[in-house]
Amino acid sequence: MTIAPPKSALPPLSPDLIARLTAIVGDKYAVTDASELAQYLTEERNLFQGRSPLVLRPASTAEVSAICKLATEHRIALVPQGGNTGLVGGQTPHNGEVVVSMRRMDKIREVDTASNTMTVEAGVVLQTIQQHASEADRLFPLSLGAEGSCTIGGNLSTNAGGTGALAFGVARDMALGLEVVLADGRILNGLSKLKKDNTGYDLRNLFIGAEGTLGIITAAVLKLFPKPRAVDTAIVGLKSPADALRLLAISQAEAAGGLTSFELLAEICVDMCVKHGLAVRDPLSERHPWYVLMEVSSSRDDAAGTVEVILGQGITDGIVEDAVIAASLQQRAAFWKLRETIPAAQKPEGGSIKHDISVPIAAVPAFIAEADAAVTKLVPGARPVAFGHLGDGNIHYNVSQPVTGTTPREFLDRWHEVNAVVFAIALRMSGSISAEHGIGVLKRDELPNVKDGTAIELMRGIKALLDPQGIMNPGKVL
Ligand code: FAD
Repeated sequence: MTIAPPKSALPPLSPDLIARLTAIVGDKYAVTDASELAQYLTEERNLFQGRSPLVLRPASTAEVSAICKLATEHRIALVPQGGNTGLVGGQTPHNGEVVVSMRRMDKIREVDTASNTMTVEAGVVLQTIQQHASEADRLFPLSLGAEGSCTIGGNLSTNAGGTGALAFGVARDMALGLEVVLADGRILNGLSKLKKDNTGYDLRNLFIGAEGTLGIITAAVLKLFPKPRAVDTAIVGLKSPADALRLLAISQAEAAGGLTSFELLAEICVDMCVKHGLAVRDPLSERHPWYVLMEVSSSRDDAAGTVEVILGQGITDGIVEDAVIAASLQQRAAFWKLRETIPAAQKPEGGSIKHDISVPIAAVPAFIAEADAAVTKLVPGARPVAFGHLGDGNIHYNVSQPVTGTTPREFLDRWHEVNAVVFAIALRMSGSISAEHGIGVLKRDELPNVKDGTAIELMRGIKALLDPQGIMNPGKVL
């Protein structure tokens, strides 16, 4: 399957403009060689193949500003890129745009433990931020499977979620201030550490989740949180998503804000991970139709006690069939590996059509039941592989191809047909077609059908105001 935005209306790039853009970053940091360009043009899922004559690798906000100024003057289309781990084609240059790779802007500018903030450049890798926070005896709680390579600029631009959203919110909730270069090169200096600042419109939040269509984020002030003294992790076997929901209610009543993760996994996820050697072994002695991976964090050493109380209540109520609490850091890592490697375990199973929908938390069991029925009716033999952040109502509703009778290509060609069925159920339940990955090009054509018309008009107006020449990531989101 290939998905691309419509052809760009912007003029092709002349050799003179390539030379002028190159002069801004220096020859060494302007990539034109085909073999070097390749890493910026493809992505994780191989759904998109980009093309570009030039990747610029600026080292400073001033360089980004000079690039944008020239781009607006000469109508040069730009695609901001961070770690290139995005899953909706937002970071891919589909029409020969110039890529602005932010990975060289990778400085931690300041850690301020008194204010509980960290000021970072946009190209810092998420894991590096987590490590610096930990060294300062603090926690930066954004955590996702791609954390070893995604950048904070990309995380903010996609408003990334991840496994800590239940307690700490999404990327938007973890940013206090932003520095952004606008399409015309102006620098919006919003690197504020203030928690409270009621002086007009909230401009910062316009750029968070904008997927690079309104400006280039060059730096951010992030919130830091107290580092937990104890984290306890359990895997639980259950009969149904409805039981998982009941266990969530017990967990929240017992642990309150200390419940930092609550992930739901269908049995097929464990099957695939074990079959393909990606999880060490089944964490429980027998298979169960559903699993929950839960984590309780505490500023004292009492997290294990809380998990035991939760599981004890779950057993008494007939919800928990079996459970194990990680006895070591190694076992905890093995539980998380099981959760994080599900997409990789799906790869050898052929084509997979993915969704990152959300519905109100209470509707998750009904959503899964209805989507399973609808998808297998549409594609007999299709295998729903549902997992995700139950505590946020956000399910990665992936569908693996039937074992026999179809090729990956034939199955993936039905991507939009399967999407339509799944999205219709989520929308009927007042849900969203994207809880995490964003719109990019993958869901761009769908957006006007599912979003309020006035909201779309306002989005177009904001885009026209901030980027009148349409040079910022054209063809994405809108
Ligand atoms: P890129 O992929 O480079 O870019 C993503 C978008 O942001 C593009 O539209 C790009 O133009 C724009 N952009 C990048 N940097 C900037 C900048 N500095 N200024 C302006 N625009 C910019 N996502 C989740 O939300 N939750 C998950 O749990 C999760 N798990 C994942 C697991 C795996 C294995 C993988 C491969 C991906 C996962 N993702 C997840 C998706 C992805 O990692 C996130 O979207 C991430 O935030 C993207 O960061 P990036 O630096 O790679 O951005």
